[in-house]
Amino acid sequence: MNQADSLKLSAGLEALGWQTAENERDSSLVVINTCSVRQHAEDRAYSHLGRLRKQKESGLKIQIAVMGCMVGPKTDELSKRFPYVDAWARPQEFDPILQLAESISEAPEGELGILSSILNRDISRTYARPEGVSAFIPVVHGCDKFCTYCIVPLRRGRERSRSVEDIMHEIKWLADRDIKEVTLLGQTVEAYGHDLPDSPTLATLFEEIENINGIKRVRFLTSYPKDMTDEIISSVAQSSKVCEHFNIPVQSGSNSMLGRMRRGYMVEDFENRVEKIRTLMPNASIATDVIVGCPGETQSEFQETVDLLEKINFNTIHVAAYSPRPGTYADRKMDDDIPKEIKKERLQIIEAIHAESSGNINSLVVGNQVEVLVETLAGHQGMGRTRGGVIVHFSPNGEKIAAGELVLVEITSATAWSLKGHVANTLSLAVV
Ligand code: SF4
Repeated sequence: MNQADSLKLSAGLEALGWQTAENERDSSLVVINTCSVRQHAEDRAYSHLGRLRKQKESGLKIQIAVMGCMVGPKTDELSKRFPYVDAWARPQEFDPILQLAESISEAPEGELGILSSILNRDISRTYARPEGVSAFIPVVHGCDKFCTYCIVPLRRGRERSRSVEDIMHEIKWLADRDIKEVTLLGQTVEAYGHDLPDSPTLATLFEEIENINGIKRVRFLTSYPKDMTDEIISSVAQSSKVCEHFNIPVQSGSNSMLGRMRRGYMVEDFENRVEKIRTLMPNASIATDVIVGCPGETQSEFQETVDLLEKINFNTIHVAAYSPRPGTYADRKMDDDIPKEIKKERLQIIEAIHAESSGNINSLVVGNQVEVLVETLAGHQGMGRTRGGVIVHFSPNGEKIAAGELVLVEITSATAWSLKGHVANTLSLAVV
């Protein structure tokens, strides 16, 4: 989501006559797009700001703007703490930065400066093409769920869906510029459309994209088990472009822990969704997210998570250790009572389960052919991804191929993180 926001802002700045600089020292304006999901991400933003402060104090003429999840509805405290920051902008609220850009007298040449000041700052239909063959498309902003540990709804606000027309306009614009794959984004992407007239759904978007020439693959994330309807799962199964690749965070395998997280579903509901997916798409790739060490997580609750992960056999498990986020319910009302060493130990146990399940699943395709969307080609090496999102390094095997093409790659070796192979000449397809 942040990558998409950064690109959107850069499109807006380009429309005002700005260009991307090679490095910070050559810049008039530096924008830091921040993430607050975990303390570590925020710490990185703080240390970057510290470096910029020193550069500014040593005479470098730069303006600094901070955008993204670190910026809440009130910026007074932030402004006091970081007086050298010139503009603050909440997620998707690009105006303060565009205003700052307009006010920097020495930056764009005079004519552009004058022009920019009379332009409408609405950049909803101003786009930038990302590098490569894939693009992120936010379809619904914000989140209405309020999980106790999560800062996102406090920073990104309530759910707001973009219109189908707006989304298709952007995807067509990207398709005309050789983008081959789009990933539809939402904090809970299946919530798309409930706030719009006629209530379109994610399945509506899938159907519309089916008709856009040039787009070869569609992905979507992140899923929320309760919003993932049978209709959406079936539409993935029926679509030729939508990859059978699901990112469904379970967060814990314990119903009591899920209750304290206020996730709004039980383990059984989650398993039911996985079963539905696997019934319709036996080879679907399923990834999940897990948080360990949440307030009060007992050893037996953690063990329930381990049991669930081993039972479901996920393609990918993203794991994080809990860190309190100021302002959340968990931070205000619950003790961060799991010692650091135990969080670390639990994290490592989950990482080991991921390495084993992912390694086992990937090894099953050795000797088979998989469909790969070519992302890069350098010398005699290509890189791309399977429909399930696994990275594939391959040799073109004498074939003339280009980035953006779909090719069949015969897999010769596998690890938990990637596959290796060469472009194949015959067809016997495996789905990963
Ligand atoms: Fe945060 Fe829960 Fe919303 Fe996900 S569903 S963004 S974890 S509040």
